[in-house]
Amino acid sequence: MADSTEKTLFQKIADGEVPADVVYQDDRAVAFRDIHPVAPTHVLIVPRTPIPRADAVGEADEALVGHLFTVARRVAEAEGLSDYRLVVNNGAGAGQTVFHLHVHLLGGRDLQWPPG
Ligand code: 5GP
Repeated sequence: MADSTEKTLFQKIADGEVPADVVYQDDRAVAFRDIHPVAPTHVLIVPRTPIPRADAVGEADEALVGHLFTVARRVAEAEGLSDYRLVVNNGAGAGQTVFHLHVHLLGGRDLQWPPG
């Protein structure tokens, strides 16, 4: 069983222990480019607090999770994007592979709907 005190990959990135192309950071969140981008802009926005997934977000996290949208807007503006997609995969069946809450910011190309 995994040690619950072990840092997640995204905590290690947020703490500078694993290298990443960081495009924004503050005291509550970090944004960095996805290692396998699926769009010209593909940035992951993560809270420094390691909430594992969207359905683990509690009332005490509301301000923090709202802040992720503020960061997304700042990153999108910095990337020159007016139209973009924000995605949160919740659970393996929905495509989540890293169990540290993160918002995908995708842009820079036409995006189809519905996603696969
Ligand atoms: P998920 O599938 O959990 O919604 O998204 C996880 C994302 O993290 C994937 O798009 C994957 O490419 C990205 N990723 C996985 N490992 C790394 C890494 O070490 N560095 C960066 N920058 N992105 C990663």
